[in-house]
Amino acid sequence: MRQSSLVVVANRLPLDDNIAPDGACEWRRSPGGLAGALHAILEQTPATWVGWTGTIGEAQRLPDLGTLRLCPVSLTEAEARGYYEGFANSTLWPLYHDAVEPPVFDRGWWETYRSVNRRFAEAAAEVAEPGATVWVQDYHLQLVPQLLREMRPDVVIGFFLHVPFPPPELFMQLPRRVELLRGMLGADLVGFQRPQAAHNVAQLAAKLLDARGADDAITLDDRVVRTGAFPVSIDVAEMRSLSARPYVVNQARRLRHDLGSHKRVLLSVDRLDYTKGIEHRLTAYSELLRDGRLKVRDTVMVQVAVPSRERVENYRGLRDRIEGEVGRINGEYGRVGEPAIHYLNQPFDRADLAALYQTADVMVVTPLRDGMNLVAKEFVAARRDDSGALVLSEFAGAAAELEDAFLVNPHDVDGLKETLLHALAADPGDLATRMKAMRSYITANDIHAWARAYLTELDLARSLAL
Ligand code: UDP
Repeated sequence: MRQSSLVVVANRLPLDDNIAPDGACEWRRSPGGLAGALHAILEQTPATWVGWTGTIGEAQRLPDLGTLRLCPVSLTEAEARGYYEGFANSTLWPLYHDAVEPPVFDRGWWETYRSVNRRFAEAAAEVAEPGATVWVQDYHLQLVPQLLREMRPDVVIGFFLHVPFPPPELFMQLPRRVELLRGMLGADLVGFQRPQAAHNVAQLAAKLLDARGADDAITLDDRVVRTGAFPVSIDVAEMRSLSARPYVVNQARRLRHDLGSHKRVLLSVDRLDYTKGIEHRLTAYSELLRDGRLKVRDTVMVQVAVPSRERVENYRGLRDRIEGEVGRINGEYGRVGEPAIHYLNQPFDRADLAALYQTADVMVVTPLRDGMNLVAKEFVAARRDDSGALVLSEFAGAAAELEDAFLVNPHDVDGLKETLLHALAADPGDLATRMKAMRSYITANDIHAWARAYLTELDLARSLAL
């Protein structure tokens, strides 16, 4: 295997699930935010990406994607269940999202998680050239930094957690809390979305590892691990130029016409996940219809709910509940040719998403907990004028940055109802002021700024460690 000076290690390769028989493949715009987030950086830097293709069994060799080399990691059926569906998505994911669904602690999953993390670390160790920078991504691979450090003490290791890091009292529930914390702190720089996460980790490191912890650095085993907040972002320029394309503009016009030109459109775009607060939002909307404060003749909701993790039990149950509720709302409040909700359980490509964003009067983003929420930022970037309102949960990382959104606590259904009405009735001048401020913020803090900030800090961590 050829070696690279920059290696990204992530659960998934940035590829479509279906690689053509001739081996040709294209960048995958996966419904998860990560591939999209790193796409812009890796187009410009020769690098290797280590990850799983998403299919079971022995991985094939893959051709380069432009300047990017791909290093596929194989998983068996049992490994996909124990590592991905089990420990990553049924233990860590719910625990890291405030335990909005109870995390499952299954002792068998841990061994699989550890051995799969070792396989990723070995692959990274093989493709990293001497002194390379290795950037490990997210909660699936939390043990990789420490494992890699043992194999390759010469490389500089970054770890970035895209999801929230929980408060200490929740993390303390994890049966393998010491190993998980130590694993992550094998990095030279550990990045989070929010400063609170770094604070939580410093407290835990002091308590569990006897380390000296501050919010920007933790001293552990005579080594300094730097920590900090690096809120992830989107490629604003790309979204803006996509939004100006004739196809997108025409598609937005057509959608607007099909939805009813005179109607106010409420839009939500989520992976179908219990952290996204879809049920809370449907309750609020349904009660507004019930109370006669909204009417289907002049308001319509569009809910895109992209299928996600369908082999995980909780997700199937959630889908059934949401589809039942959408059916009930349409049955009770819809009229012939005028549904209350258009429910779309399918993935959209970037161009169609940009058109949808342009169609909305109010973008409704109500996660119960979310590391960042890129959809909120994409909505702002896709708007071609200063109209449109963003209703945004206080529990999304994005809320710390988009302070001009209509911020809301989604657990407070009455508050959510009032906020939706407030956003729908807002004065265009007020909306324009808010939109301008949010646009200027994300323009200055785009994906390139994120990568620059993180990689500059990682370089600094390396020079301080020498
Ligand atoms: N997305 C997409 N097609 C869809 C719905 C969503 O490509 O039909 C993308 C969306 O543009 C965004 C990402 O999926 O970039 C979702 O990221 P977010 O941070 O909002 O949530 P996550 O799914 O990572 O929890």
